[in-house]
Amino acid sequence: MNPVAMGLLLLISLSAFTLSVVRRFLPLFVMQPDVRWENPKERVVGILKYFFGQLRFLRPFERVHGIAHIMIFWGAIVVTLSTIQMAGRGFSPDWHLPGFGDTGLGLTYIFLKDLFTLSIMTGCTMAFVNRVFFRPSRMILSLEALVILNWIFWMMAMDLLYESTLFILSPDHPETQAAFLGMFGKKLLMGMGLIADSSMTSQLHAMGSWGHLILGLSFLNYLPYCKQFHEVTSLPSLFMRSLKKKGALTRQDLEDEDAIFGVGKIEEFSWKRGMDMYTCAECGRCHANCPAYLTDKPLSPMHLIMDERDHLKKKTNLMCQAALHKFKKEPEKVEAVLEEWDGENLVGDVISEEAIWACTTCGHCISNCPLMIEHVDNIIDIRRHLVQVESRFPKELTQFFKGCENLSNPWSLASNTRGDWFGDLGVKTPEENPDFEYLFYVGCAGSFDDRYKKVTIAVAKLLQKAGVNFVCLGDNEMCCGETARRLGNEYLAQHMINFNLEMFDSIGVKKIITACPHCFNTFKNEYPQFGKSFEVVHHTELIRELTRKGVFKAGKKFNGKGPVVYHDSCYLGRYNDLYDIPRDIARFIPGVKLVEAERRERTSFCCGAGGGRMWMEENIGKRINAERFEQLAATGAKTVATACPYCMIMLDDAMKEKGAEEEFEIVDLAQMMLASIEA
Ligand code: SF4
Ligand code: SF4
Repeated sequence: MNPVAMGLLLLISLSAFTLSVVRRFLPLFVMQPDVRWENPKERVVGILKYFFGQLRFLRPFERVHGIAHIMIFWGAIVVTLSTIQMAGRGFSPDWHLPGFGDTGLGLTYIFLKDLFTLSIMTGCTMAFVNRVFFRPSRMILSLEALVILNWIFWMMAMDLLYESTLFILSPDHPETQAAFLGMFGKKLLMGMGLIADSSMTSQLHAMGSWGHLILGLSFLNYLPYCKQFHEVTSLPSLFMRSLKKKGALTRQDLEDEDAIFGVGKIEEFSWKRGMDMYTCAECGRCHANCPAYLTDKPLSPMHLIMDERDHLKKKTNLMCQAALHKFKKEPEKVEAVLEEWDGENLVGDVISEEAIWACTTCGHCISNCPLMIEHVDNIIDIRRHLVQVESRFPKELTQFFKGCENLSNPWSLASNTRGDWFGDLGVKTPEENPDFEYLFYVGCAGSFDDRYKKVTIAVAKLLQKAGVNFVCLGDNEMCCGETARRLGNEYLAQHMINFNLEMFDSIGVKKIITACPHCFNTFKNEYPQFGKSFEVVHHTELIRELTRKGVFKAGKKFNGKGPVVYHDSCYLGRYNDLYDIPRDIARFIPGVKLVEAERRERTSFCCGAGGGRMWMEENIGKRINAERFEQLAATGAKTVATACPYCMIMLDDAMKEKGAEEEFEIVDLAQMMLASIEA
């Protein structure tokens, strides 16, 4: 290899790559600050698990694609060292990395390198065949992806050619001891008539080395312009992943005068969101179970991130200029430069408002993204802008916000009827029982929706039967703020949260029981953002504990309409990992035949109500609750067991829409338990 040519090749390609990377990263400096380096130990552990361990690729769901990715990923890490070594040999033919060469370490590496060359070539072939012939619906057949797979395959083929011909030219080369693949290639080529003295062998050897390096370095320069840039950004992006609780949205600082109330322009996202945009590998795992995407709404979490990334790239020149002004501490110029943008708007042109309001915040996208991209916070950022800055939201939400503001419930029902469900149950308020252990926080649906009031009563009766020392707030209860927050009205949500915190403080609340996974999630995971933590239990947790302690004994046989399927609530399951507890309750009841839906537990399908969707019209595509009801009915179950008011209301509506009330029933686990023990 010619050292001058090698020097020039490296200088030009590495300089060009550095410039491209700088150009990609500069815009992130004009995006919003976000501290992502606290708790470094946990971050390093995450890198070992999710980056090097590739844990999210090993989930049962589409394991073949995951294994193909792991083979290519690990192969790329190992083979990169060999590429460096090959480039070094352009200057000195016997050069090797320090400690490598004819040593135990060097020969072990050569063995591994051959193993991983094979692994990459097999992985590329598997991925290519899968994409072309067995492509799962989540994936797009992109030419770019196929070109990249071929590119990598031929890089490896060139490396193999280099190694095989090297062993023909230098039969005593020390690496022959370990390079099983190179030796196989050597035998193959010699079988085809190649010999050491032949000029063809030398030419093929040069072709192998130059081919590998040129393909490798040109691929490196292509990275910043294609989806494969995630090879550069995924390590820092995973290191700086969100460590906040799964079910919590980011808290907006309403006191900060400089704060931006949501995102209306790409630069108003945090720099981490920008990094996420570069990191998306376009694998489609996020929308594989997205209820909006699968029912033909104009939202796909993958396309959301890709479209934002394309928009970011279009604004790159301006944002680079702005970043340079920022480094020079010229804030007016930063703003002036960004104001020059007269292209497409982020909201409306790049991302449609319909897409933003279509999200149920079910969390499947986040839980399934191997690169831990935060789609829900991204969407809520834009909702916050639409609601708080532009007052633009679906007209049905006007009533919702008014109801919450004036009467602290989305139904706009008189707040002095909130405790009407008490009836003659003898439920006490904190004034009547100041030494209570638990506050049973009922929530808006449990207080006002006729279907769910029955669940509230069932839970209260179970607590009374078990002798739990609890109180309810009755007419003094206020909405917890969960839905207002997910609808982007952070101001209203924080008002409710602060009101509740003051009230809880004044009556000495330490433990909360709730029959609503949305209240449960927000009390457990979001209220601590405001300085106060409680022991929060969902009613299914308490009921299961009471069965385990023998307080509730197996009683009357289940007399429902048939086999039971449990529908996982997103906010109980995906956000809080409560999958077994509700099922244990169903199993505890004699005579229950529990069947399972194909989409269940972590990959369960949303009922369509979360993220405030219950309060909006659903005019596009198939109704999500109808889709979910069909999935549940396909199990052969006749009883759908739920543990969430939203799920119950949505599935009940879907059942009635189908006119299937005679055949099916929707019941809460608390109702099933009460019916069983009330012999
Ligand atoms: S949270 Fe659910 S509905 Fe929203 S984008 Fe993600 S998968 Fe789709
Ligand atoms: S956001 Fe994540 S899951 Fe979705 S396509 Fe990108 S990398 Fe894949």
